[in-house]
Amino acid sequence: MALPPALLTSLAKAPGFVQTDFEAIHEDGSQVISIRKNPKKQAVIQSHLVDSEIPWCPHGYYLKERPVFTADPLFHTGAYYVQEASSMFLWHVLNAIFGNNTTKKKVLDLCAAPGGKTTLLLNYFTDALVVANEVIKTRASILVENTTKWGADNIVVTNNDPAHFQKLPDFFDLIVVDAPCSGSGLFRKDPEAVKEWSTDAVALCSARQERILAEILPALAENGFLIYSTCSYAVEEDEAIAEWLICEMNMEPVFIPVDATWNIVETAPNGFRFYPNKLKGEGFFIAAFQKKNKTVPSAIAEQKLTALNSVEKFSVTQFCSIPDQYFYFKNQETIRAFNTYFQLELQQLAANLYIKKAGIAIGELKGKDLVPAHEFALANFDKHTIQQVALDELQAMDYLRKKDFFVEGPKGWVLFTYQNLGLGWAKLLSNRLNNYYPSEWRIRKDSF
Ligand code: SAM
Repeated sequence: MALPPALLTSLAKAPGFVQTDFEAIHEDGSQVISIRKNPKKQAVIQSHLVDSEIPWCPHGYYLKERPVFTADPLFHTGAYYVQEASSMFLWHVLNAIFGNNTTKKKVLDLCAAPGGKTTLLLNYFTDALVVANEVIKTRASILVENTTKWGADNIVVTNNDPAHFQKLPDFFDLIVVDAPCSGSGLFRKDPEAVKEWSTDAVALCSARQERILAEILPALAENGFLIYSTCSYAVEEDEAIAEWLICEMNMEPVFIPVDATWNIVETAPNGFRFYPNKLKGEGFFIAAFQKKNKTVPSAIAEQKLTALNSVEKFSVTQFCSIPDQYFYFKNQETIRAFNTYFQLELQQLAANLYIKKAGIAIGELKGKDLVPAHEFALANFDKHTIQQVALDELQAMDYLRKKDFFVEGPKGWVLFTYQNLGLGWAKLLSNRLNNYYPSEWRIRKDSF
């Protein structure tokens, strides 16, 4: 792959940059494939595919080759996420900052689609409120899809501009800004992107990154943490932004210890650079900061979420048992469950942001029948009281393709599972079944 000469010139002074090695690794065409397993969904990934563990992230694995992920039903159950290895370093940064202090945090993933870092945050924190935001509407739908498959319950997906979060001053304990960038770090994965790269694009991205950060910092609580990352090698988008955060925005750099054998380049003032010629991963930059000042006293509007009436509550509890710490509410016609601990925060978010998803959708009442929601099939709730039918791989693929097929089982609503993980709903009738897999997620290819 021919790299833009202006890129190579501009990187001459970038920390850790070695042009010959950098060009050689872009020439050789090799690919690093990696996944992160979902620790809440115990599934057996075919051992012949797994190469080794990713040293900076538990549950992260390098694969020997790229399988056809779409053809694996486990992929659709949210048993793992295909994620670039360098970006999983976020786990190490979180661990250095929070250690075991992981409960009840309020976390914002500001630039979240398609959801790689969100799924990591959902696993790192326990009983946290994770708000995953994506400004571009179509990408927000992919974020809903991926977080739904992950089975996350304490999640709110929003579709807002960063500036909208200023209505929530001092709200979050952690904000992750995985900023839109000029993308040079992913050239090996997406060679077409080389054509889009220019020094003008870098300058535009750098200005946009400052704007996004300036808009979002008021929503970070005093003593809260900001983690900033890009998949660009440009100093203007990496170290220069870190300098600007420290000098202009009064953020304190957070220093993270790393294992020298990982070959990650430590860079001033406090960031980390990942080069594919030095480690098994793509180009990436990450740095952490702490906010030491308070923004303004919070004066937040509240909006009541609609509570369920007794008939609705009865129908839900007849159908399933949700853990005690959840409360139910209705959003349009959908009944949802959310952790009671964050009830007030959810009201504040609902009053100020455009919410695409909050907690777990349980279903909709149609007369006396509760039509279960697909989110509920994938949620990490105990579903042992619900009728289930285990599918084999061929049946699972037929189900995911919404093909005609039939399985014996109890009549009525049935949860189809694959390797003990929820796949989706069907209604079994005497001689056919109604497939409730979401049409928009259906696998369209007949063979791989
Ligand atoms: N964090 C994601 C993950 O790990 O899967 C990847 C995020 S990607 C690097 C950057 C995201 O920022 C994109 O989804 C993009 O749509 C979004 N974005 C673009 N312009 C933005 C803006 N002005 N403000 C906030 N986000 C923006």
